[in-house]
This record gives sequence, structure tokens and C-alpha cells, in this order.
Amino acid sequence: MTNIQPWHSKRVNDREVYHDHGNCTEGKTIAVYNRTPGTGGRLRCEECSRLSQSSK
Ligand SMILES: [Zn+2]
Repeated sequence: MTNIQPWHSKRVNDREVYHDHGNCTEGKTIAVYNRTPGTGGRLRCEECSRLSQSSK
């Protein structure tokens, strides 16, 4: 589960962050049809940052 392409939610009510880790709780709750590929110029989700550091 490495080298995942980042994604972010297209729903306006979701936080303006992007996700790039397959185990992120928040990232996983975004339905596939609500996902937009790429970072969208957003900040990285802090859980994704933590997960990627701990899984090295
Ligand atoms: Zn995340």
C-alpha cells in the first residue's frame, strides 16, 4: 500500500485537506464517487502524515 495517488473530497462540507494514505479513517469515509484525484492545492491530512511516518 505504498505510492498511493492523493485524493480529496469534492463535497463542500468536508474538510479542505487531501489524503494519500489507504489507512486514513477520514480518507476512507469519502465515497469513491466523491473523490477527486490530486491534492487540490490543499493541506495534507494530519492523520495521513502520521500514518505515512509510522509505516516507514
Ligand atoms: Zn487522511
